[in-house]
Amino acid sequence: MDRPLLQIDHLNASYGDLQVLWDVSLEVRENEIVALLGANGAGKSTLLRCLTGLNPLTGGRISLDGEDLSGLPPYRRVNRGLVLVPEERGIFPELSVENNLRVGGYIVTDKEELRAGFDWVYGLFPVLRERRRQLAGSLSGGEQQMLSIAKGLISRPRLLLLDELSLGLAPVVVLKLLDLIKQIHESGVTLILVDQNVEKILSVSHRGYVFENGRIALEGSAQELLRDPRTKKAYLGR
Ligand code: ATP
Repeated sequence: MDRPLLQIDHLNASYGDLQVLWDVSLEVRENEIVALLGANGAGKSTLLRCLTGLNPLTGGRISLDGEDLSGLPPYRRVNRGLVLVPEERGIFPELSVENNLRVGGYIVTDKEELRAGFDWVYGLFPVLRERRRQLAGSLSGGEQQMLSIAKGLISRPRLLLLDELSLGLAPVVVLKLLDLIKQIHESGVTLILVDQNVEKILSVSHRGYVFENGRIALEGSAQELLRDPRTKKAYLGR
């Protein structure tokens, strides 16, 4: 597979006096899909927030395509192509679908590029085109998740971080979203997926890291992790 796009070295992070990430090192190569797994509170969301600059590091280093990100505020990281779709979805219920997408595309100054971004996400999610004038708050849960992903994609990120993709969604909707993840990946986007639904998320991922109490406890290819007795026992109920 290709060269490293994201490199995390010996990262530590805390909330006040409470340290929640300990010496985390991992890499994501260009064009990979990497799953971050682990129980509630293991530190996965905190890691994503550190990547986007929403949480400070207390130690270690993050680099994107060889560039050290420390000192870069969140919006500059978006400019570099690093975009988070947060667990709470981050959409504005009182705005239309289209205006939510405009918010997602605020960094795109070139009109043609923005139009191409709209065409791309409306192609991926035709239901959003149909409902573009509807208020985001009136969409179903699955459509809101689609909007949230589309809002993240409209600026054509290089690395998309998806937190809790399947949370609160019906299994059939999750399957549809996983299919869309494959299409997004095929168009050249590298992805990090965080989800409680271990089996489903590993079914579309190349590799994964398992977090326990703020540390990486296990890493491997998706197949290795699915076969590993520790993953099976802890997450797959076997
Ligand atoms: P979840 O799936 O529940 O989001 P997670 O693996 O993403 O779990 P985090 O949300 O990163 O875990 O939480 C890691 C630890 O940090 C937990 O002990 C959590 O209680 C704590 N924590 C998270 N956010 C804050 C905060 N804003 N202030 C203080 N502690 C926090």
